[in-house]
Amino acid sequence: MNFENETIESLHEKLVSKECSARDIAEAFLEKAETEDKNIHAFLRIRRKEALAEADAVDEKIKSGESISMLAGIPIALKDNMLAIGEQATAGSKILETYKGSYDGTVVKKLKDAGAVFIGRTNLDEFAMGSSTENSAFGPTKNPHDITKVPGGSSGGSAASVAAGFVLGALGSDTGGSIRQPAAFCGTVGLKPTYGAVSRFGLIAMASSLDQIGPFTKTVRDARILFETIKGKDGRDATTSFDYGVESLDEQETKSLVVGIPKEFFISGISKEVEDTVRGVAEKLKGQKIVFKEISLPHTQYALSCYYIIMPAEVSSNLARLEGIRYGRIVHDVNNLKELYFKNRGAGFGKETRRRILLGTFVLSSGYYDAYYTKAQKVRRLIANDFEEAFKKVDVILGPTTPTTAFGFGEKTKDPVSMYLSDIFTISANLAGVPAMSVPVKKYKVGSGELPIGFQLIGKHFREADLFAIGELYESL
Ligand code: GLN
Repeated sequence: MNFENETIESLHEKLVSKECSARDIAEAFLEKAETEDKNIHAFLRIRRKEALAEADAVDEKIKSGESISMLAGIPIALKDNMLAIGEQATAGSKILETYKGSYDGTVVKKLKDAGAVFIGRTNLDEFAMGSSTENSAFGPTKNPHDITKVPGGSSGGSAASVAAGFVLGALGSDTGGSIRQPAAFCGTVGLKPTYGAVSRFGLIAMASSLDQIGPFTKTVRDARILFETIKGKDGRDATTSFDYGVESLDEQETKSLVVGIPKEFFISGISKEVEDTVRGVAEKLKGQKIVFKEISLPHTQYALSCYYIIMPAEVSSNLARLEGIRYGRIVHDVNNLKELYFKNRGAGFGKETRRRILLGTFVLSSGYYDAYYTKAQKVRRLIANDFEEAFKKVDVILGPTTPTTAFGFGEKTKDPVSMYLSDIFTISANLAGVPAMSVPVKKYKVGSGELPIGFQLIGKHFREADLFAIGELYESL
């Protein structure tokens, strides 16, 4: 059976009307993944046996006349930094090569309860640090649209798995753009929810004050479905806020939303192609009577520097617990404990991870703490204030997701700063904690030779509904 043009919603209907079984679906997606992923490497592991058992359980339910949830039987992929009981979770690092989750993370539990079928675990930059998946200890993922190009990162495997049609939805994590940037590069929808909307319990932490889990899908509607399933207050993550609904805005309400265009998002290194495309999106929406306003986010120029102090500080703290003894012991011939730490952490972490641990340790060290870390926290506040001011005038902010389309392998690995710059438009939303979504400008077909472009919608805290409304309106055009 061919499910190429299906979405979560349409496939759910086929299951309910018994046009196909969950097993038919799982077989088809597994087969595609097993044959075609050899060229892409979206997956670190494909779960044939387990996925078929999950599908059979859904078929049993349908047979016994029980009603099923929207995600039952739907093929999903998980980034390999999310814990599921008894299953490997490497975070793309050698230092966790043999680690297995000892419990289900909250998002995993919610998807299991919904009956999702987990096709496999996706590749990522080590500990989610990177913008291309070139930092994975297990080799890079390729962009399904052009295998000479990166898929973006760090959730490059999740983005590629959806773009290549191996699954209908995938979860990623976004600390500075790791869902939105690969979504833009691979032509999928990617949502970073409001900080505190989705539980981080069971997510291997990168930078805890910035990390959020969110979905990759083919359509905005499907992103809404996945988000509704994973969001919500969780006693196991004290930063989750409360249970809020995500209402559907009607046509009239959507048209009364005011959209802001930040002038700072159309400078600094943006390619003409991306700029013209994103301005084209605004023109299309204007045709729908959406009101636009030019706005300013004056501290945007400091976002990258601010992020590259706060993030490594948190990374160095979070990764301090890993010594490589239990889950990927690499060096055996050591004379004492200190040497063991040195050698195992030196060999177990990749270059970019070590760079960030060093940076983070430095900015937190006594004597430098106030000059760097405290200062960066103050700048973070100013960046958050920019959004607060802007959101007094507009409901949603529209701009590019990335300055360019997907770049080639090796193009930016020698110059870390050029790599960091690919997140210039995504980082502010993490610093401010507001929700943001990348939407592909059209339906990009793998094999058409075109490189995707995405535009970004940023909303008020806990107003994912506004992003979905504008995103769905744009899709309907
Ligand atoms: N690319 C950014 C970085 O390297 C963002 C990573 C992320 O969002 N996990 O830090």
